[in-house]
Amino acid sequence: MLVDAHCHLQDPQFKGKEQEVINRARVAGVTAMVVVGFDIESSRRAVELAESHENVYATIGVHPHHAKDVSPRDIEALARLADSAAVVGIGETGLDYYRDLSPREVQQSVFREQLELAGQLSIPVVVHSRDADEETYRIIEEYARQALAEWPKDRPLGVMHCFAGDLPLALRYVQLGLLISIAGTCTYPNADRTRAVAGGIPLRWMAVETDAPYLPLQSRRGKRNEPAYLVETVQCIADIRGASFEEVSQRTAMAAAWLFGLGDIGEPEASLVEESR
Ligand SMILES: [Zn+2]
Repeated sequence: MLVDAHCHLQDPQFKGKEQEVINRARVAGVTAMVVVGFDIESSRRAVELAESHENVYATIGVHPHHAKDVSPRDIEALARLADSAAVVGIGETGLDYYRDLSPREVQQSVFREQLELAGQLSIPVVVHSRDADEETYRIIEEYARQALAEWPKDRPLGVMHCFAGDLPLALRYVQLGLLISIAGTCTYPNADRTRAVAGGIPLRWMAVETDAPYLPLQSRRGKRNEPAYLVETVQCIADIRGASFEEVSQRTAMAAAWLFGLGDIGEPEASLVEESR
């Protein structure tokens, strides 16, 4: 069991090759993939891919880069797309103060609107945060306070995708009820902070992802990434933790299934859920 909790199979780089890429992932042992939307069109494509492939799921949302293009109609379009049973979350949404492609106030309000939608639908949120640690945390903390009152209490609120903060911040997100997702960046020579997170958070709160076609592993820098390569990230985490590959793949798959409600992969036992809160 191995789940790629964040990939972009709808990216133009995979056009016409989606089935091959999914097949290679399956052969490599990746049993399920979550295709993440980054604007309205890519969200629509994510739903199409999820509806037409088994064990492929979709999240729908607008990346902070595109926040400046969002109209109220787009949020309605997301709400309508969420009617599909293939949709398991909202995102990716969040803040990106590194590239600042949308004004910061606009990023914040579009982020808040999508959190609100996730809350209304009681589905988890996939969060992107870059160079915006404090602001992202503040907005999520505020959301968690409101959402948790009505939230199904044994389910996480969301996931911090390709988490790049430090271990104390990761643990604060876990306290709020968010999973931490580790990407192939943990194989980069300068990624000590990410390796500390990969080694330090409880496995039941950890997801793994490729963010394909982006973020290739150190061994494939400069090349297109794809879900099949997730196994190298899992091995990297296993080495850091002194755990077996099987333990990390199994436990992170269970965590992703718990997060996104992927019932066919299996829910963790209730006692495990209670204990981790
Ligand atoms: Zn992404």
